[in-house]
Amino acid sequence: MTKDKSELKIKAIENGTVIDHITANKSLHILKILGLPDEETRNVTIAMNVSSNEIGSKDILKIENRELDPSELNQIALIAPKATINIIRNFEPIKKDKIILPDRITSIIKCTNPKCITNYENEPITPLFNVINKYPPVVRCHYCEKLIKTEDIDKQFE
Ligand SMILES: [Zn+2]
Repeated sequence: MTKDKSELKIKAIENGTVIDHITANKSLHILKILGLPDEETRNVTIAMNVSSNEIGSKDILKIENRELDPSELNQIALIAPKATINIIRNFEPIKKDKIILPDRITSIIKCTNPKCITNYENEPITPLFNVINKYPPVVRCHYCEKLIKTEDIDKQFE
C-alpha cells in the first residue's frame, strides 16, 4: 500500500511542524518571528512560491523536531493569516489546524507611533494591539490608538 504524499511536494519529515498556505514570500518573516533555525531546530525546509489552488501561490515551511505551540502560531497569523499547521509524528499528521488571529495580541510587532508609551526608552510597556481586521491583518495600538496597516506590519520583519 502506498500513501499519496504528492501534495507535500517536498521531503516528508518524521517529526515536527509543517506550516502550509503561507502567503507567498513570507516564510522568511515567519522564521524570524519564531527565531528559527536555532540550536535545537537546525533542519528547516523552505518551499517558496509553490502554486496553490486555494491561494494562488504560497510558501511552505517544514520545521523538524519542533512542535509549535499555540502562542507562537498566533504570532504567525499577523504575517500569514491563511496558514495551516500540521503537527507530524512518525511521518503522520496527527493534528491539523488553521491559524487564528486572536482579537487582541501582545505582540512581537511595535507600535509605529514613536511617542507611544510602548516605545518609551525607560520602562516601556509591553505592546498590546486590538485586531481590527484579520485578513489582511490590521491592528490598532491599545494605548495610543495608532492604526497599524498590513504593510506596516510586514515592514517590521524585512
Ligand atoms: Zn501605540
